[in-house]
Amino acid sequence: MIFNEIKKEYLNLDSPVLIVGSGPAGISAALDLEKKNISSIIVEAGSEFYDEKSQSQYEGQIIGDKLESLSQSRLRQLGGTSGIWGGWCRPFESYDFEKWLIKKKDIDPFLEEACSILEIQNNFRTSSLSQDVNQIEYQYSNIQFGSHYKEHLNKSDKIKIFLNSQLTYFESVNGNITNAVVNNNDKSIKVKSNHFILAAGGIENSRILLWSRIKNKRLLDKELPIGKMWMHHPFIYGGKGIVYKTKLNKRFSKKFLDYEGPVHFTPSENFLSQNNLLSCSMHIIPNEDKKLKNAKQIIREIACFAPKLGNKLRMFLEKKQLYCGNIKMHLEENYESNNYISLDIKKDLSGVPLPRLNYLQSKSTIKSCKKALMSFANFCVEENIGRIALSDDIVNENKIQNIAGGGYHHSGGTIMGVNKNNSVVDRNLKVHNTNNLYVLGSSTFTSIGYVNPTLSIIQFSLKLSKHIKEKLA
Ligand SMILES: Cc1cc2nc3c(=O)[nH]c(=O)nc-3n(C[C@H](O)[C@H](O)[C@H](O)COP(=O)(O)OP(=O)(O)OC[C@H]3O[C@@H](n4cnc5c(N)ncnc54)[C@H](O)[C@@H]3O)c2cc1C
Repeated sequence: MIFNEIKKEYLNLDSPVLIVGSGPAGISAALDLEKKNISSIIVEAGSEFYDEKSQSQYEGQIIGDKLESLSQSRLRQLGGTSGIWGGWCRPFESYDFEKWLIKKKDIDPFLEEACSILEIQNNFRTSSLSQDVNQIEYQYSNIQFGSHYKEHLNKSDKIKIFLNSQLTYFESVNGNITNAVVNNNDKSIKVKSNHFILAAGGIENSRILLWSRIKNKRLLDKELPIGKMWMHHPFIYGGKGIVYKTKLNKRFSKKFLDYEGPVHFTPSENFLSQNNLLSCSMHIIPNEDKKLKNAKQIIREIACFAPKLGNKLRMFLEKKQLYCGNIKMHLEENYESNNYISLDIKKDLSGVPLPRLNYLQSKSTIKSCKKALMSFANFCVEENIGRIALSDDIVNENKIQNIAGGGYHHSGGTIMGVNKNNSVVDRNLKVHNTNNLYVLGSSTFTSIGYVNPTLSIIQFSLKLSKHIKEKLA
């Protein structure tokens, strides 16, 4: 059931799990616990729909390089940021887990169910086009968790969602969290539970733990690197290009994954490890260029120095035989970055300090992006399947200025690892040296690879739900 405020009569009932946040991470965990016959309460800071006053509580400072602002890059309402997400889905690669405590096989068992929550097919093919270049397949989800799961949640007697209820900090006794202190309609209410799951997104998870540590010095170790090793995917225009559909089909008849929609490429694992590079993905999205403005511009530029080729390309374009347009790229950032979240002096309306994100673009990310794109451009020339032009930013290895959507995949800050010196949560997502506090979401990722995070976030939510079921048993 969904309520606009905390209903005290329901707090006395036996709900063994309290979840903070109703985004993909929180709702997926609650839905899976429900299937296991386990009740949960979700406290959600936002309301059912977009609310300007509530959203303004999502502000915060970014110090350093350019990123999308903290109030524009997430959504504070039922369903969380899935209300504005793009829906691109693909699971992590096995090599993404090199520095993790767990391996891909540990979350693979939850992939099928995660796909069913997102209503996508569990079909993520990879095809090796050369030693250096892979073609990869994505699925696209249309699920906005708030509107899509509202009816189910409203009918559920196992899940209670209290909207307009902002968790401010946790209280504890001897490493056991006893209460979540929640601000509801300007009243501070203590909510008890046995297990507490923090699923408030890639900035708030760190912010809440940092504030809880200040409020309650014995709860969280002062060594825990809360807020540290923060990462995101710079999402940039790496260049422009044309790739011939028919040639790709002919040349790679058995290997080319031919389907409608955007085409995606990534450097092979071998190429990355030989060159010691971070990973990235490259996307050509013809549908974005509905009036073919981009495509025509690219062909005009080519025609200036190669008129014959230009004419040929115009013909191919008319016959819809080209993938043509910007090359968009998601770039991996180094998990050992010095980027971090700290607390500001300024506070929000509930008296919690606003977050400060300290961020500098990493040189190794830009270097890796240039090498990968050059290798893809060479591959197109060698196989005579197209031509790619790198953007000036990348050629000159400047700071990348043409960020298309940088700062949308907030990750790290409460990363998984062996102990409190190098990480915040353990392999079961439990905060080190606490007995019953867990963190869900991309803040726990040890590294972020190139893939969009939400599918993996949901796999982890299902893994945690299984763990809690085992603990309760
Ligand atoms: C423009 C855009 C496009 C994106 N496109 C994609 C994509 O194509 N593919 C992909 O995989 N990912 C994409 N993402 C990222 C995706 O939206 C996130 O990975 C996903 O929403 C994270 O889920 P979450 O539940 O961890 O956090 P969120 O969705 O941010 O949910 C957190 C929830 O916690 C609530 N909350 C916060 N603080 C508190 C508090 N103190 N007390 C109570 N509740 C609180 C919030 O209101 C919110 O409902 C995109 C993001 C953006 C901004």
